[in-house]
Formats: sequence, structure tokens, C-alpha cells
Amino acid sequence: ATLDGSGPATLDEPGPSKSPAKELETEVARRRTFAVISHPDAGKSTLTEALALHARVISEAGAIHGKAGRRSTVSDWMEMEKARGISVSSTALQFNYQTSPDAEITNVINLVDTPGHADFSEDTYRVLTAVDAAVMLIDAAKGLEPQTLKLFQVCRQFGIPVITVINKWDRPGQSPLELFDEIESRIGLTPTPLYWPVGIAGDFRGLLDVQDGSYIRFTRTAGGATIAPEEFMSAEAAAEREGVDWDTAVEESDLLISSGQQHDQEMFLAGQTSPVIFGSAMLNFGVRQILDTLVALAPSPGPRDDVSGGVREVTDPFSAVVFKVQAGMDTAHRDRLAFMRVVSGVFERGMVVTHSQTKKPFTTKYALTVFGRDRTTVENAYPGDIVGLVNATALAPGHTLYTDKKVEFPPIPSFAPEHFSALRVDSADKYKKFRRAVEQLDSEGVVQVLRNDIRGDASPVLAAVGPMQFEVVTARMKTEFGVDARMEPLGYSLARRTDAASAVELGRQRGVEVFTRTDGALLALVSDKWRLQYIQKEMPELTLEPLVAAG
Ligand code: GDP
Repeated sequence: ATLDGSGPATLDEPGPSKSPAKELETEVARRRTFAVISHPDAGKSTLTEALALHARVISEAGAIHGKAGRRSTVSDWMEMEKARGISVSSTALQFNYQTSPDAEITNVINLVDTPGHADFSEDTYRVLTAVDAAVMLIDAAKGLEPQTLKLFQVCRQFGIPVITVINKWDRPGQSPLELFDEIESRIGLTPTPLYWPVGIAGDFRGLLDVQDGSYIRFTRTAGGATIAPEEFMSAEAAAEREGVDWDTAVEESDLLISSGQQHDQEMFLAGQTSPVIFGSAMLNFGVRQILDTLVALAPSPGPRDDVSGGVREVTDPFSAVVFKVQAGMDTAHRDRLAFMRVVSGVFERGMVVTHSQTKKPFTTKYALTVFGRDRTTVENAYPGDIVGLVNATALAPGHTLYTDKKVEFPPIPSFAPEHFSALRVDSADKYKKFRRAVEQLDSEGVVQVLRNDIRGDASPVLAAVGPMQFEVVTARMKTEFGVDARMEPLGYSLARRTDAASAVELGRQRGVEVFTRTDGALLALVSDKWRLQYIQKEMPELTLEPLVAAG
């Protein structure tokens, strides 16, 4: 059921007679790796469960945390997380999916979780370096919300194509055209209708398949616990069945198409347009359409640029990029888990790979795809897959692993922090340990560490994308380094990149303080956006550039 016929539907199943190279190509072609970007409560967990319900889940890595029947996951290591019922980690869920029972190939879908509640952190953004597409999940009543916007900006920056899903159509909400307007005018992304709702928000009957004009009518099941039965109808039958609601759906989507808003694969891949699906994760309406769209339109894993200006092709020898590191908080599991995305070649458990940053060999005997109490080892992984490595002490986000053919991928950029705290240690005799702890957390990319001469070395300032990162730092300082540290929140809310020439004048301004980040960047912290606007107006010659993903 590919929408444009360009999907991998003609590929053969891998067979024993195939050459390894051919087999690798087949594995790559059938994979889709994506993340859901959304604001808390838009329905990400509900959608994740619905997607898993529609597919045969083959492994699970802590991504599912539905309110009911929450499984114990790796995040249970952290008491802090247990108490709050949230997960600090971002991990992956992998499942098989067939677009139809007689489809020639079975797709492999990797859904990488974006931690996004109170645990919003730099990891949330970093996850997006590991995916090939994003599903932007929007609540039909609320429209675009702040966290969705921030994550969307990162997708834009990384050139990740975005599929839009308007969720909760079973509840009263805005009109579809209003939502389209909002997307277009606020983020400059042109939405293109793919599956249009029949029935207003709150009276969801089914979907008009905009590409072929047919109708998919859904039937509710008790509590949305099972896949909603679908009835397929021609336009004529739909008009008869739904009357004016069908006519409205056809008119509205035609209006958009005639104004040029139809799906165009190139524009979509270039991040200029976004195909839109209406649905209800809770009722399981439109969920199959999301999967089919991922298979038909989202790109399969592709080549990645390296630091030397070359390109690592998916068919090159094994390489992977680390996008997240999680340290075990529980003293009984003093593990460090590094999550890598396979970029090229075949990963085989036990293979010895080279860590590009240290040039040292790294044994992958303990590679995992499933975390938590019942850890399951992974035997093979292909480009697009996510693998966890245990006891990966030297690995940090952005690091490269490879075999045979040397490669190093560019580092992951650091993102615009919005929370700032001074870090202090209570007893002076712990200073050495404190220093080591700060260095370690900095190198892992848990927080950004800022310093200036006025505060001195003993009082660095920590900068984070989400406030939860500070709690992680305090907890790890205590459990791993035996240091009681205190955090003093500072009255700054944004950071701008500046330069040495501007730093002196900026340092004289009220509500501004200049710091050097560990990577050498000069950052001006500013109390609020009004202060920033004032300075920019009064002293336009000063350098104050937004950082990546300025929210
Ligand atoms: P998350 O915070 O994005 O993971 O959102 P959840 O999946 O936890 O959903 C937040 C709330 O919205 C829960 O009460 C869900 O039951 C509800 N919800 C999610 N999807 C839908 C939907 O399609 N329709 C309706 N009516 N409620 C939904």
C-alpha cells in the first residue's frame, strides 16, 4: 500500500541465496526510524501503544509507559523517576509492520522515544539526530504548543522531514482548515492533506483518502483497546452514507489541493511541506494510516556526512553514532548505557569496534535492545536500528564507533539552554571530587558547564534545556562521587552566543552575565527577552546570536 509507488514494495524477502551486500540493502530499504515530537498530553504514549497494537512488537526498550500496565523499564533504576512516574531515558521501540497481509516485504519500524514531560532535556533534542523522520503530534483542540514548536525547530535545523498527525479528533476541537492555517502561518511549513476527517472534531466517522478519493469508515471498539475495524468505500458510497459531512470533507481538501497544497515527495523531504493525517490515538482511528504513510513516504536510512567532508554510505562497513548516554543511578547496577544508532553495515553482537574519539577498541559483548529487568541481547542490527551498549564508560553523545573503514561523524551541537543554576559544594575538602564530578558530567553532556572569572572555578554555572537535568546532576554527584552539592537557580532565562569584542560591554549591562562554555563558546546569559530586546536596540553593534534551537 505505498502511496506513490516509490516505496520498497518490489524488493524480495532476504533469502539464504542472497549476497550479504544485497541482504544489507534489503534490510535498509525496509527500515523506517522515526520519533514523535509533541507537547505533553498530546497523546504520544497513547499513540505509541496504538502503533504497537497495529504491528507485531518484536522488542521493546522502555518506550511504552502507558498509564495502565506500565512496564518496568531501565528508568526504574532511578528512585527519583519512580517517585514521579516519568522516564529520564530516551530509548527505542522496534516492531515489524506489513502494509497489507499479502505485502511482499515486512517493514521494520524503529520508534525512538523523545523524553518530553518534566524530563525534557538535551537528550530530547539529541534523539532527533538518530531518526530519519518525525511525526509531529498535535492536539486538535490546542493546536501548536511550545514544546512541539521547539522540537519542530530542531527537526528543521537537522533537515528531518515531518509528518503531521492531528490527534484527538474524537473530541471537540478546531476546524481542520483553522489548524492548517495555524501550521502554515506560525511555522512556515505547508501542510498537505493526506487523510482528511469526515465529521467535525468530536464526531469522527472516518477518513477521506485524499490521494485516491476513497473513504475509510471506522467503527469504535470498547475503549479503543483493539484495532478499530475499517470499512472501505467508494466516493459514491461515502456520499450516500455520510451525506453533507462527506461533501464538506471533499470540498475542504479540494480547496487546499487547488491552492497548491498537495503532497510532493521532494518538497516533503526538503522540509517544506508536511503531509497531514487526522486521527484518534485513543480510538485507534487513523493509526494504520500513520504506519502506511511512514512506510510510503518517510525515507529509509541513508548516508551520513563525516567530519572530513566525506560520506558514510549505508553499505559501508559497520559504523554507528552514540546519541545518548545513561548512567545507572542504582548502586546495584552501576552501568553506563550508551545508545547508538547504526549508520552503516551490519552490527553483530560481540564484534570489536573502534571508538573513534579515543581510537581504542570496544567490545560489544553486552549489546542490548531491551532494557529493564529482563534485558535481552541483540544479535544483529542494521542501519537505522538502535542498540544499547553496557558499561560504555568512554562513550559520550556524538561519539562514533566503526569497524574496518575509519570514520568520525560530526559532534552533536549543543542546544539553547533555558535554565541556569550555580553549583556549589558545601565542604571545601570535597573540592577535588567535586571537580572530577563536574568534569565527568560535562563530558557526558548531562548539562552544559559555564564559567567566568568573577565566580571562579569553584562555582561553575550549569545550563540545561530542562530543569530535571539539575536534579540528575545533584543525585549523581551524591551517589557516584559522594559530593553534597547545592543548586542555586539564577535569574536568567536565555543564552546568546557572543564574542570577546562584545563581552566587556555586555558584562556591564544589568541582567546580563558572560560565561565561557567548556567548548570555548562565549555565552551571554540574559534575564529575559525584554532585557535582550532593549540591549539589541540600544547597542546593535553587540554580538548576540541565538544558539541552536532557540526556543
Ligand atoms: P502524552 O503526554 O503525549 O504521552 O499523552 P498521553 O498519551 O498520556 O495522553 C494524554 C491524555 O490524552 C490521556 O488522558 C489520554 O487518554 C488522552 N488521549 C490521547 N489520545 C487521545 C485521543 O485520540 N482522543 C482522546 N479523546 N483522548 C486522547
